[in-house]
Amino acid sequence: MKTIGHFIDGKRVDGRSGRFKDIYDPNTGAVQARVAMATPAELDAAVASAAAAQMAWANTNPQRRSRVLFAYKALVDQHMDELADLLSREHGKVLADSRGDVIRGLDVIEFACGVPHAQKGEHTYGAGPEIDVYSMRKPLGVVAGITPFNFPAMIPMWMFGMAIAAGNAVILKPSEKDPSVPMRLCELFVEAGGPAGLLQCVNGDKEIVDAICDHETIKAVSFVGSSDIAQYVYSRATANGKRAQCMGGAKNHGIIMPDANMDQAAKDILGAAYGSAGERCMALPVVVPVGEGTAERFLDALLPKIDAMTVGTSTDPDADYGPVVTQAHKESIEADIDRAVEEGATVVRDGRGFILQGHEDGFFVGPTLLDDVTPDMQTYHEEIFGPVLQIVRAKDFEAALRLPSEHQYGNGVAIFTANGRVAREFADRVEVGMVGINVPIPVPVSYHSFGGWKRSAFGSANQYGMEGLRFYTKVKTVTQRWPEGETEDSAFIIPTF
Ligand code: NAD
Repeated sequence: MKTIGHFIDGKRVDGRSGRFKDIYDPNTGAVQARVAMATPAELDAAVASAAAAQMAWANTNPQRRSRVLFAYKALVDQHMDELADLLSREHGKVLADSRGDVIRGLDVIEFACGVPHAQKGEHTYGAGPEIDVYSMRKPLGVVAGITPFNFPAMIPMWMFGMAIAAGNAVILKPSEKDPSVPMRLCELFVEAGGPAGLLQCVNGDKEIVDAICDHETIKAVSFVGSSDIAQYVYSRATANGKRAQCMGGAKNHGIIMPDANMDQAAKDILGAAYGSAGERCMALPVVVPVGEGTAERFLDALLPKIDAMTVGTSTDPDADYGPVVTQAHKESIEADIDRAVEEGATVVRDGRGFILQGHEDGFFVGPTLLDDVTPDMQTYHEEIFGPVLQIVRAKDFEAALRLPSEHQYGNGVAIFTANGRVAREFADRVEVGMVGINVPIPVPVSYHSFGGWKRSAFGSANQYGMEGLRFYTKVKTVTQRWPEGETEDSAFIIPTF
């Protein structure tokens, strides 16, 4: 059986704890590998190597740092097929979507290549008599990234792209469910000319996450995962004096105004609800048709599209989506559908008990559509994270606006309409961090930044873009003067200009 260890000091090493977790092939249900769970001592070794590498890297001029990132981007591009294949086989998303996972991560690496410009400080000539003031953005030192299973390429690159560009070293702690791509991304960094120790991968579970939050040398923790864990990591890391940005779960709404192009909205929502088996924090698992008759018109457009979808293995080029990540997750999605039915939702399409011929033990869930969902239902408030779309009808714009605004999560939201004025007002007033107007999955491009509101994010810094650069740097401001000869007597009051 293949065993995955860690990536420390520029090479793969075996785990020493004797503790492992199984990695499944979600297409067949079989265990395909196991991954070692690190101990705090193994983390110490990684941090020591990272700290040594970081000192030299921080003193490497930004243009040279950028060149390593350019080379890295080209190398990851060359390995696209290999990475996508590895990703699909562990995660279960289809190959085209796995490529998208890598490409959206590479977008951040590409942005990070602009670090010589982005990390320039500010300068004021003549802030006082012969006084100049300048500020610089210094790296923090060793930082950590803790990532979820659902984007094993993109989310690590969100973090280490920005952190490394800014002069930090990174300890990555990927999801134990699909660690192979993050491990390979670390290996390729060294092949691209990155210094050994600058980017390391320490695999593990809660024990190592706790050790990261407590480690004195680690200065910042970036986390993406479910909300309860995000809040826990945020509390623990900040209690230890670290910076933390911790992104959590989501329940994104798609508002369908009566004037929307129904066919286009149905197409967009189909992909956003069921793509990647709904395992995306920017999926659209709730649709809100607004006004009399809108739900019926929307369903007329949507149902034939649901019925034409193909669920298949992650390596089947004809599949629209593949299996979910584990048997436990499949069971939890099916239990949520059971609960929704008990709460009074109407099952329009039922994906429970879905069997893919020849893959009877795979973790497949069929497309599910629940109508007549109401805001008092528990299953409306919770994240299901599967191929389940819930319809909540709203009588008018104000009622529709309240739903995402009052929901515990505030990651993304989309509105489908032909009326720019309505869209503009919605974007302004909705209490959600990322808004799409006729765009179902509004994940911001790499030179903006990603972040939700409410229980979708703890901490104030967004991921990537200039927000990411600010998170991974601290500002030092220098006030200088070079007077000729002696100046005036000592001043006992604070200098004023
Ligand atoms: P998860 O919370 O189970 O795991 C995330 C990370 O936390 C993993 O590295 C895991 O090993 C670690 N972890 C798990 N249990 C822990 C514990 N008790 N103590 C400390 N660490 C622990 O999340 P997941 O199932 O891997 O990913 C899916 C979740 O991530 C969904 O809720 C999804 O919405 C969310 N997500 C959010 C975003 C975002 O940017 N807001 C992006 C992607 C995914």
